Amino acid sequence: MYVPHMQATCTHLDDIADVAHGLDVCPACLASRDTWLHLRQCRICGNTGCCDSSRNKHATAHFHETGHAIMRTLEEGQDWSWCFVDKETLEQDDDGRWRAVDAFFDAGVWYAREVLAAGAASLPFPRSATAGDGFPLGIWEATYRDRYRAGTLDPDQAAGLESLPGWRW
Ligand SMILES: [Zn+2]
Ligand SMILES: [Zn+2]
Ligand SMILES: [Zn+2]
Repeated sequence: MYVPHMQATCTHLDDIADVAHGLDVCPACLASRDTWLHLRQCRICGNTGCCDSSRNKHATAHFHETGHAIMRTLEEGQDWSWCFVDKETLEQDDDGRWRAVDAFFDAGVWYAREVLAAGAASLPFPRSATAGDGFPLGIWEATYRDRYRAGTLDPDQAAGLESLPGWRW
């Protein structure tokens, strides 16, 4: 189960170096005449390796060999990083601030908009409400309402919720 949170807890962000953009091949796969699926780059030393959906998982192997905690995707149009130690997907704001990607929150906003636009339900959703392939829309809403009440809700997430038609705290 995904545990949503926004504040990055990763303690390795200071280790990130200004490395040149990675290669468009996995050198280790190439050396053994093997193939790969997606490419990742170590943000500490710049090493290019293949993703965990590739047979050889060279990016993860590089982490195990070196302890270099943070890698980034080299996929076109993507801009996320991953900390192997903290198991966090990380994104950097325009102002340079690091955030943990909260896929649960983003998915909920997307489903809520869809349900509301279709007139299929209105806010607040019942706790048992689901959407799509069983996304727990009611629990999603309760999760962030609880956080709001506790004073720990991320301000950007609060603004996102307030932009939903009919949202009231
Ligand atoms: Zn970390
Ligand atoms: Zn590889
Ligand atoms: Zn490295």
